[in-house]
Amino acid sequence: MTKPDLRDFTRQELARALVALGEKGSRIDRVFGLLHKKGAAGYGELPGIDEALKQKLAERYDFIPAPKVEKSVSADGTIKLAFTFADGARAESVITFTKEAAAACVSSQAGCACGCVFCAAGAAGLKRDLKPSEILAQFAACRREAGRPLDSLKFAGSGEPFMNWADVKRSILILSDNKGYNFPQFRITVSTVGVVPVIRELADSHLAIKLAVSLITADEEQRGALTPVAKKYSLRQIIGAARYYGDRTKRSVLFDYIVFDGVNDTPQDAAKLLALIKDLNCKVDLTLYSPVPSGKPFTPGSFEKAKAFQAAMAEGGVRAHLRREKGADIAAGYGQLGAQG
Ligand code: SF4
Repeated sequence: MTKPDLRDFTRQELARALVALGEKGSRIDRVFGLLHKKGAAGYGELPGIDEALKQKLAERYDFIPAPKVEKSVSADGTIKLAFTFADGARAESVITFTKEAAAACVSSQAGCACGCVFCAAGAAGLKRDLKPSEILAQFAACRREAGRPLDSLKFAGSGEPFMNWADVKRSILILSDNKGYNFPQFRITVSTVGVVPVIRELADSHLAIKLAVSLITADEEQRGALTPVAKKYSLRQIIGAARYYGDRTKRSVLFDYIVFDGVNDTPQDAAKLLALIKDLNCKVDLTLYSPVPSGKPFTPGSFEKAKAFQAAMAEGGVRAHLRREKGADIAAGYGQLGAQG
């Protein structure tokens, strides 16, 4: 049986593991820092830790080999990193740039079980969940490749983060730990297609991360045709959970809205969306759909129609940001990741 990777544990979990081996508290921060600040990738890279402890750890825990990473760069400067893990599972991360900021987007699963009909990862199906160390490997590679500090991190690559929530949450706790990467939680956003119980759990937790909900469309029937998740969680339930999250945390909810030409971009669609969300503390992020290589029957949203949609949001009192999709030429746009799971 494969042993767990030592880098999969939060500092509290590592502390429990070390105490169970008879170690004192003073070693815990040292080991955690070597793993997550210095990037130790093997027992040979733990200076100052005595051989007896390394021996005991090695009997129980492993260092899974670093994934193979392939890099592509888009004409607009967007970087895509494709990771192949030791067992052949694949996942991708994307770094996008503006003049002021670098933003990383990581995957939480290899492939995805949700089956949204416009999405490459949905078509590939779920291969497996990613472990915290595999999510951290993506973050570390993005940080290296960005060439500047990362300003934000979003879980919006392949996979539904709330369907691998225990390990995504671990990765967030490790990333934000001040003895490790020290990446602030308020710079982290988790994007869900609407897994209601976990939205509520997040609202009740101490995590200070941001929530993004990908509504896809504000029409229930149409949503049912675009994502099988709609059969489990209705728009009414999702908006109820988002409202609960906003009330509990006093944080704004981001609604990701992917604009498909002729599908969800009319003034009537904007009115339906407004009716759903206008009394929530929220923002809308409008992104033009990028076609996926498997030739799904959707065409990218029109920038002009999306502008009109944005204006309708503003008129209804909801802030909406419209951005041109980046990295589509290297299949790094929304819905394009995870084609190979
Ligand atoms: S859009 Fe997101 S939730 Fe839907 S199949 Fe793709 S990765 Fe999964």
